[in-house]
Order: sequence, then structure tokens, then C-alpha cells
Amino acid sequence: MEKKKVMLTGDRPTGKLHIGHYFGSLKKRVELQESGEYEMYILVADVQALTDNFNNPEKVRNNVREVVKDYLSIGIDPTKTTIYIQSLVPECAELTQYYSNLVTIARLERNPTVKTEIAQKKELFGESVTYGFIGYPVSQAADITAFEGEVVPVGEDQEPLIEQCREIVRKFNSIYGETLVEPQIMLSKEKRIKGLDGNEKMGKSLGNAIYLSDPEEEVNRKVMSAVTDPNRIRKDDKGNPNICMVYYYHKLFTDEESCKKCCAECKAGERGCVSCKKELSNNIIEYLRPIREKRAYYDAHPEEVDKILKEGTEKARMTAKETMKKVKKAMKLDYFNE
Ligand code: ATP
Ligand code: MG
Repeated sequence: MEKKKVMLTGDRPTGKLHIGHYFGSLKKRVELQESGEYEMYILVADVQALTDNFNNPEKVRNNVREVVKDYLSIGIDPTKTTIYIQSLVPECAELTQYYSNLVTIARLERNPTVKTEIAQKKELFGESVTYGFIGYPVSQAADITAFEGEVVPVGEDQEPLIEQCREIVRKFNSIYGETLVEPQIMLSKEKRIKGLDGNEKMGKSLGNAIYLSDPEEEVNRKVMSAVTDPNRIRKDDKGNPNICMVYYYHKLFTDEESCKKCCAECKAGERGCVSCKKELSNNIIEYLRPIREKRAYYDAHPEEVDKILKEGTEKARMTAKETMKKVKKAMKLDYFNE
């Protein structure tokens, strides 16, 4: 039988997953899973989450199972996809150590995503960022390559990280011989979902997200707080939907015809923002209903979640060990030919 392509991706357990994750990556994962063409791995990146949450281990620990429940509720099927915990596959940490020789500090400092994130974390890092945080692209490269990941469905913010991983792979292969597989990024149509506050990115750590598990009243409250055209003060003022977050989300959750109507009425000053928000909120609530219901099942069955994670982690570790053997052989570290 022909070997299937490997899909690998993951999320940091820094909070529950939101609609940005859904449109940016989760939806695509389910499509790939259902195609049957991929060997599927999803990691809960607790080690990476600690790089900027080292002083809050409870947060990371508590969110591991929450993220897994999010996966299960959106249709990730543990009989088809291996879900595992990063820290329980120590081969990835070992690989990170070897890769750290292949990347310069200057190259890490130039990574645009890392740069943006450091700027957002001034309060945590002050004037000098930690070795662990600046180096997380190296550890991410280890996570992907330990599974010989070929396809990585992620949001646009991950582009520079995948590029950095590809560089490490090329460098490794050029020094130690063709060993590692170079991954490809797979972007969704909606590759970067904006935040409720109009920020370019909805992010768990940015406080501008609608979570997949938000109760109905929470969705309502958040939609009511979404940023609209600031020049539109009275109901009959003519609006500009292109700078309105409510219209932006309508395009994701509302049927095409209603969207067109919304746009035309807003431009003509014939639609109030409150009723427009109410319509959006109802649509989001309906869209997320099956997800919320499935999640409620796993909330009530934590032992099933743990079983899935334990079994997935065991399986993942076996795969990573196999890659490690190849890496050690290539690096002349296979002293006893084991
Ligand atoms: P944090 O703020 O802790 O970094 P996050 O919301 O950025 O959290 P991650 O766990 O870092 O979430 O990212 C998981 C995956 O979701 C990545 O593939 C990332 O590209 C994607 N993703 C995150 N936010 C968005 C977004 N707003 N739009 C599209 N994809 C996103
Ligand atoms: Mg992130």
C-alpha cells in the first residue's frame, strides 16, 4: 500500500479555540481527515504555550483538555486522527536541541511573526526576550519534522514559521544527508480572521475572540460589542460595511443573499446596527449549536477525553522515535547501531 501523506498541525493550550481557529485551520483539518488521504496528527502544544506562559502553568494545564474537547466537537475523529500532548513526546525536545545548531539568532530575530508577538508581550518580556520564546520556531520545526509532516494546515500568521522550518530541513539535509521531509503550508480561504475589536487577528491571548464553546448569551454580548463604522452614529446615517466587523462576520455566517441585503441597506442608511448585530448573533449561535452540543457530551465524559489523549500520545511517540533513529544515524550518533 502506498504511504499516505502526513498532515501535522496543532494549537497552543492557551485558551479555548475560537472562530478564527475554525475558519483558519480546524475546518480544513476535518476535510483532510474525511478525504482519507492523509495520516493525521494534531498536537496540543503545551511546551510551546509555556514559552510565553512559563509563569502560569495552571493556565496551560487547564487548557489542554479544553482544546481537545474543541477538536472533538468540531469533528476531529480520534479513530482517524492521532491527538497527542507535545511534552509527552520528549523526542521533539531532543530534536530541537540538534536543530538549534542550524539556525542563527539573527535569523530568529528577523522572523516577522515572532517579532510581532514579542512586541505584544512587552509586559512579560520587558526589554529582553527569553531564549525559549525566541527559539520557539526551532521547536516547532522539530514538532513537524519528527512526524515527517508534509502538509501543515495553519493560519497565515504561521507562514514565516513554516518557512523557517523548511530552511532548517534544507540545512540539516545538506550537512547530514537527505533525511528530513520538507513541509508545505496549507492555507485556508479565510487565512486570517480578524478580531471583534477590528484587530488584524483574532487571538486567544488578545481578548477579541468568539469561542466555539461560548454560550448563547456570551455570543450575543460579544457581537453587540463588535466594532462598527465609527462615522455611523444615527440609524439613518449611511454606513461603510467594509470597515464594519459585523458585516465582516456576516460574510462568514450569513447566507449570500442576506449578506447582499445587509450591505445595501447599511450603505443606504436603511438598517440599524443593533438589528444587524442581532441577526448576526442569531446566525452564529445557530452555526455553533451542533458544536456546542457535541462539546457538552465530552464535558460530561472527561474519562473519554483522557483515554483519547493517552492513546494518541502513545502512538505519536512511536512515530517520533522512528524519525529519531534516522536523525541519529544521519548525525553519527548511533553509537551502538541500535
Ligand atoms: P495565542 O494568542 O496563544 O498564540 P492563537 O489564537 O494565536 O493563540 P494558536 O494556538 O497560536 O492560537 O494557533 C493555532 C492555529 O490557529 C494556527 O494554525 C494559527 O495560524 C491559527 N489561527 C489562530 N488565530 C487565527 C486567526 N485569527 N485566523 C486564522 N487562523 C488563526
Ligand atoms: Mg498564536
